[in-house]
Amino acid sequence: MFAILLGAPGAGKGTQAQLLMKKYGIPQISTGDMLRSEVAQGTALGKQLHEIMKRGDLVPDALIMQIVEKRLQAPDCFNGFILDGFPRTIPQAEELSKFLKHKMHIDITVVDISVQDDVIIDRLANRRVCGTCKKVYSLTVNPPIVDGKCDRCDGELKHRADDQVETIKNRLNVYHDNTAPLIRFYRSKKLLHRVNGLQKVDDVFREVEKCFNMNKNAKEGYTTGRAVVEAPMN
Ligand code: AMP
Repeated sequence: MFAILLGAPGAGKGTQAQLLMKKYGIPQISTGDMLRSEVAQGTALGKQLHEIMKRGDLVPDALIMQIVEKRLQAPDCFNGFILDGFPRTIPQAEELSKFLKHKMHIDITVVDISVQDDVIIDRLANRRVCGTCKKVYSLTVNPPIVDGKCDRCDGELKHRADDQVETIKNRLNVYHDNTAPLIRFYRSKKLLHRVNGLQKVDDVFREVEKCFNMNKNAKEGYTTGRAVVEAPMN
């Protein structure tokens, strides 16, 4: 399973990536997590990244490509990986296509998880993430049993600096300007599947899995239908 999860911030990419990782034993490659870990180390680069991320802007393509290409060459990626939060721009997607074709000789399944902006704002403002195991909570939908503590590992729950309402609005603008065009990009390559992200987590997961199975069947010649499958959006 070689997958890209597309979608606005808060669409549920991270949650679905974690479920896929657990079920199929392949790594979740979250560029956001990788960048946050650089920030946490307090390096000079980390300080620059922190400023960009705090505003909700994008980190330069060249830097992201360097980080991702290095990560994808690690042995745990040879049998599959789930890209979460990458690519986020057309140049990143173009570079990734070249890299995957030439270095890894693979095609990838792209799943866009669609959620409208007002729901995104509400979700992110109520999102809390465990600082230790990264489990994601929603204060409205699945709050922790003990306030501020992770049910799974007792770690401290954090409200990300970029999950404040003003920053969320900027992240959404950045998403519509830079990342949403990837839907058309992958559609034109007949790699795009779309899933309605407003459903319950398990239902989204079932649909995401269906996209991979469809792709697998199509590759093995079992279906003659369209490669592009679009679930009705609300
Ligand atoms: P995320 O955790 O995916 O929401 O990412 C958090 C922040 O990290 C984003 O708002 C960007 O500032 C930065 N970031 C993550 N992935 C990328 C990427 N592929 N390209 C540029 N910036 C990124």
